[in-house]
Amino acid sequence: MGRAIPMGYVAEPARQVPIAYDVDVAVVGGGLSGMFAAIAAGRQGVRTLVLDRFGSLGGNLGPAMIVGGSIAGEAPVTLPGGLQGIPKEVNDEMEALRSETGHKYADIPNIISHLAAQKALAAGVEILVPVWVGDPIIEAQRVTGLFVEGKSGRVAVKAKVVIDASADADVCRRAGVPVITDMPPDPTMAPLIRPEYLRPEHTPWNDTAIFYLLANVEFDRYEAFCASEVTLSAEDRAWHEEREQFPFARQQFEDAMIPLLRRAWERGEYYFQKTVDPHVHINTPNFWMWPSENGLVGSRINMGGAIRRDDMQQHARLETAIRMHVFETAQFFRRYVPGFEQAYLLLVAPYFGARGGPHIDGEYTLTPQDVYTGRKFDDVLYRNTHAGQPHRGGEPSGFDTPYRSLLPKGLDGLLVTGRASAYIRRGHDPGATRARPALMQLGEAAGVAAALAVQDGVEPRDLDVKKLQQHLLRQGFYLGEPARLAALGVTPA
Ligand SMILES: Cc1cc2nc3c(=O)[nH]c(=O)nc-3n(C[C@H](O)[C@H](O)[C@H](O)COP(=O)(O)OP(=O)(O)OC[C@H]3O[C@@H](n4cnc5c(N)ncnc54)[C@H](O)[C@@H]3O)c2cc1C
Repeated sequence: MGRAIPMGYVAEPARQVPIAYDVDVAVVGGGLSGMFAAIAAGRQGVRTLVLDRFGSLGGNLGPAMIVGGSIAGEAPVTLPGGLQGIPKEVNDEMEALRSETGHKYADIPNIISHLAAQKALAAGVEILVPVWVGDPIIEAQRVTGLFVEGKSGRVAVKAKVVIDASADADVCRRAGVPVITDMPPDPTMAPLIRPEYLRPEHTPWNDTAIFYLLANVEFDRYEAFCASEVTLSAEDRAWHEEREQFPFARQQFEDAMIPLLRRAWERGEYYFQKTVDPHVHINTPNFWMWPSENGLVGSRINMGGAIRRDDMQQHARLETAIRMHVFETAQFFRRYVPGFEQAYLLLVAPYFGARGGPHIDGEYTLTPQDVYTGRKFDDVLYRNTHAGQPHRGGEPSGFDTPYRSLLPKGLDGLLVTGRASAYIRRGHDPGATRARPALMQLGEAAGVAAALAVQDGVEPRDLDVKKLQQHLLRQGFYLGEPARLAALGVTPA
């Protein structure tokens, strides 16, 4: 697992591991997709356990705090039928809770984590946090459980079906099923993928961001400063243009910031761009700011390049670098930028995910061409669209997400949901497939599929997909026009 170079080996002594749980469905990762898988399976009446290495559920939307506005905000452009099912229920309740206070941005993660726990418990789901899920238990070519590390030591969880919702295909990689980590540059992907991502040194092209919160900011003064007329000197302009050549540099700040950034750079106090690992760059501090009341301001630092989610040593370097950069950014703002003189760093998210990473080469792996041409599959779970995504185009009526993209090759008892499901991308693209609304619905679909497989006593790959589709239609999922549903042999809800 991973790319760490072994310094040698030790033999792990065989031992008896106590079985702590014996459930129908175990969901590894209670993140954006996994939380919906767990709630959906629980509501189907099967014994369900959800496990996460963080103390709260929600993943990218929970502890990672990667939110901006409504979680369903993108749904109209990424899901032709809009957000449906349990994700819609959670989103509506979240909006209702938010409207009680009128808070902005920073309140979403805690609301999501709370609603996830509340709905999971109400559905009879057991929650096991914080624990690290290790190797799967494999017997006769099927996954029958997991080894889990926690404060009690190593325990075993037995499960009839395991759902890998770890985002990085952790269970699948350890199980040895085919997983795609590197994508060679493929010019045929050009309509969907930004050309700068198709570079040989970025075969695992990926990007991420870490969220942080500053307190005690006078945001109106900052806004007035940014809006002020600035005439940049020729030296400032040249200095900045030189930095625009930095890999993946994207301008996200006002001209007024340039002389300040230059001064801090030349004094050796703050470097707003950095190469932090071979081909990995903090490309531009994300000077997008989400002001809240009481002087709170949320923001993110972006990092992009050859980020490998399966290399814990690289991850350690990157995580250390980005966290240090957050602190340095906060110092820069306090020392240089009007409105931040009294500001301090209140919080840095405990977790940062990534937009790309390893994913299964599944029973069917969605390609950018499928996405671009609006391909249809008989095992459609919902229709997705790429057309509304900026700079990407694609068939306006969308494309089908097939059930087979949740099925790893060659091993039973295992389903995948979320970012590790089977679709080809390079980092950011194709956006619609890994966008939140789609992956939340994919979570619900995976949870229902696992429960149906248990109840029918079949392997997930032998599931009666019509039964699953019929359930999803009742949940409001959009699988296509009435004529298409008739052709599929399913009845509209
Ligand atoms: C910086 C950033 C910005 C984004 N912006 C947007 C956006 O604006 N709009 C949009 O639609 N999408 C956005 N996305 C994409 C979207 O958030 C992700 O695709 C989505 O969160 C992936 O969902 P997931 O459930 O697969 O993973 P996650 O939400 O990351 O959940 C994975 C969970 O698994 C747990 N886990 C992993 N491994 C283990 C283990 N071994 N043991 C125990 N627990 C484990 C983690 O703790 C986590 O809770 C963004 C993503 C990132 C990284």
